[in-house]
Amino acid sequence: MKYLNLLILAFLIANLNAQYKSPSENPAYVIKNVNIIPMTTDHKIIPNATIVIHNQKIQSINGTIPANSQIIDGTGKWLIPGLIDMHVHSLADGSPFVLYPTKGPLVSYDTQNNMTPYIANGVTTVFDLGARPEHIGQRNEIIRGNVIGPRIALAKVIGGRKSNTTANTPSDGRNAVRIAKEEQYEFIKVYTWLNEETFKAVIDEAKKQDMKVVGHIPVAFEGKPAEDFFIPHFGLIAHAEELSKQTDDYSYKKAQEFARLAKENGTWLIPNLTNMESIIAQAKSLNNVASLTSLKYVHPLMQSKWLTANQFEGASAQLIEHFQKQADFHKLIIKAFKESAVPMVTGTDAGISGIVWGFSLHDELKFLVKAGLTNEEALVSATRLGAEWLGIEDKIGTIEIAKFADLVLLDKNPLKDISHTRTISGVFVNGQWISKNKIDTMLSDLEQWNNANKEKYNWKKLLNSLKNN
Ligand SMILES: [Zn+2]
Repeated sequence: MKYLNLLILAFLIANLNAQYKSPSENPAYVIKNVNIIPMTTDHKIIPNATIVIHNQKIQSINGTIPANSQIIDGTGKWLIPGLIDMHVHSLADGSPFVLYPTKGPLVSYDTQNNMTPYIANGVTTVFDLGARPEHIGQRNEIIRGNVIGPRIALAKVIGGRKSNTTANTPSDGRNAVRIAKEEQYEFIKVYTWLNEETFKAVIDEAKKQDMKVVGHIPVAFEGKPAEDFFIPHFGLIAHAEELSKQTDDYSYKKAQEFARLAKENGTWLIPNLTNMESIIAQAKSLNNVASLTSLKYVHPLMQSKWLTANQFEGASAQLIEHFQKQADFHKLIIKAFKESAVPMVTGTDAGISGIVWGFSLHDELKFLVKAGLTNEEALVSATRLGAEWLGIEDKIGTIEIAKFADLVLLDKNPLKDISHTRTISGVFVNGQWISKNKIDTMLSDLEQWNNANKEKYNWKKLLNSLKNN
């Protein structure tokens, strides 16, 4: 056994050596004359700065410029930390049922195509809230350098049904957490159909296993006091919708009660306003999906699903009114949470119908500001706070020396107008410079692939072929 461990270690070291070039081979990048918005707690801006990026990291700010650096002109531009989407569902290979041994997945995806929209939008870290082994594989592809993509944090879903892992008793719940830990997932997502006892046991076991918990509030708590589901170590609510499902009166008083309990229990919130706004738009008309300018960057199978098998299509006027009430309540929740200083992090549910990976983060920032956050607060929620919740605030989330160079270069100042986060002039991801030209090429490659393969993917045909299999 000891021999085997040594063998594995030797193998790993050999691989490490094969992967990483020696530092001298990597040129430094320098952005000159750029206005840096570090997103540190001191609210400072560093005007007309020179920033050096070398070996994946920020080497200096207003220091000396190394010889043979590649210079990027930042005159009149603004630099912010890479954006973080704390609630995504990236497409990954899969099959809806178990196939014969040696048979591959029924649907496969090109990982670069899945990751391009994030990078093109300056989203350099994502938190996948429905992680499967395939997502671990995607992360490996990115780390190996085969794919340009964001950092990926992974939460495994534990639910009562309709989940990766089903658990309906406290002991099954605890076991599910321990298995997730063994499988190398970093986080647990609790899901809608857990019963009360199992929900609490999963969260307690996750605490013991040093895994943070994000997720839904199970329907089992509907009609019960909010004290029942706001418990310590339930660290992050996946969308404000979870809270609007726990009330009928949608009052500011109720929002304040939720905020107080969140504060007491250390529970943060992903408002996820994009999700509800998108649901309302889709319920009113699918034209709102068909006319999305970002739809061309969506895999043709998903385009087909969103447009021909959309669960919100034909919603009754009554249902739309209900969604609208929830959306209005979400704004009260944001007001109350801000008032109580409960941290909120941006997340979009990207991958759900109508919500396009990467692009959605900018929609979310817009909605957050509309709901009462300042431009700076919205940016903090999409940078520093996400890194803090994930426990990697010493690595990313702000622009500081020795942190990884995840950076977005903007033509215009986002503190003046939050929509300026869309004026992307280039992105650094893990120290790799992706120029505007490169971004445009990546996007047009993706668009071309999607157009060329449109006929091959039809959601309804796929479902029918599965039925006949
Ligand atoms: Zn989700």
